[in-house]
Amino acid sequence: MNTKKIIEDNKFHIKKKYGQNFLTDKKILEKIVDSANISSNTGVIEIGPGLGALTYKLCEKAKHVLAYEIDSDLIPILNENLKDFNNLTILNQDILEATVSDDIKKYLSGCDEVIVVANLPYYITTPILLGLLQNIHINRYIVMMQLEVADRICGKTQTKDYNSLSITIQYQASCKKLFKVPRTVFNPAPNVDSAVIEIDVYKEIKHKPRNESFFFDVVRSSFAQRRKTLINNLINRFGPEKEKFVQILNKLGIKENVRSEELNVEEFVNLADEILTAFMSDEEVDLYDKDCNPLGITVKRNALSDPNTYFKVVSGLIRYNGLYLIQKRSPYKPMSPNIYELPGGGLDSGEDEINGLIREIKEETEVDLKNIELVDRVVGHYIIRCIYVADAISDKVVLHEAVDYKWVKKEELKELSMFKKHPELLEKF
Ligand code: SAM
Repeated sequence: MNTKKIIEDNKFHIKKKYGQNFLTDKKILEKIVDSANISSNTGVIEIGPGLGALTYKLCEKAKHVLAYEIDSDLIPILNENLKDFNNLTILNQDILEATVSDDIKKYLSGCDEVIVVANLPYYITTPILLGLLQNIHINRYIVMMQLEVADRICGKTQTKDYNSLSITIQYQASCKKLFKVPRTVFNPAPNVDSAVIEIDVYKEIKHKPRNESFFFDVVRSSFAQRRKTLINNLINRFGPEKEKFVQILNKLGIKENVRSEELNVEEFVNLADEILTAFMSDEEVDLYDKDCNPLGITVKRNALSDPNTYFKVVSGLIRYNGLYLIQKRSPYKPMSPNIYELPGGGLDSGEDEINGLIREIKEETEVDLKNIELVDRVVGHYIIRCIYVADAISDKVVLHEAVDYKWVKKEELKELSMFKKHPELLEKF
């Protein structure tokens, strides 16, 4: 397949916004497919088939290939390039919106195993992987991504690469970097190098926490500020009572001034369980019904482990240089993640939600906010929220490395799940 020729013949315009960097090197394509160990009974999911170079090789080996491509301009090109195969389904869909488990049942049900093989769109590598890993059972992933992200996912304890992403994924899978790929083998060349990694999902999770979303919360919070010790990050998230954290660490045989990168997955699971039982048991929090009326008070541990509990979450929509960002704040995390884009983080002691929101934006993006204005209150099934809109002023926007923020254009706001659920809100901006 000659990428350049296909692009020219079809007068195709490469779309940077979709992370389109097409692989041109036959040897690398073969190396990826060889690493995937595909048998004639394997079902393969490809995310972003592009012009179909990798898809072609996957179709030659797999029982069936299910490919999701967001760019409708690529569909006729794919249909033409892959017309010889009858073991291929191409869906013109955004993978982040797709109902992958239904599609697996529909198209890959007769397969012995289901694996993902893909040269991922780099701008959404993490949401794609976390979305699939947390919701669907896929046996293995052979995926290419930005080298830096590959190093994080495969990062070992005590190294600079080890962070919340490493733990969130290594908790459920063994991860191995297979090989590096130079930027020169793509058309157009990206401005970063890449790597192919294997994520081999455990049949059974070795160390399971009592509450998985709480465990993810502890892990994320522990790495919120890398220069701080583990205890200081936990204090930031869960409250100022240092003594309680000291007791927990002592109980687990972990030194008080430990840094988060020194703890392995099992230790994080134990830590989350201990915080849930010991630390949260007696702290009181407000409860709301789904119409935003206060219901009274409960203890935090009960609130966190009761899926019928409603939470108040404040959302801020930040305008900055014509781009928008949503930031959430809540006194504690919602139990049902993925309902909206990002769960809210914790408040400092004595801080109300809107001040917490402003502080967090400043800390994580170095953007100053002005003109905060309440737009509306939205009542969701699990989450009660108020929307504030704020203008931001700053010379520079530096996004915190651990944070998955996405600045979007105004016309893209309607794509965010929050505004999909509440389109009436958009009319107010
Ligand atoms: N597989 C091709 C290759 O290796 O040459 C293309 C890989 S390119 C890095 C990423 C592909 O993902 C592009 O075709 C892009 O249009 C597609 N893509 C980007 N965002 C997507 C999304 N949200 N859902 C599905 N496909 C997406």
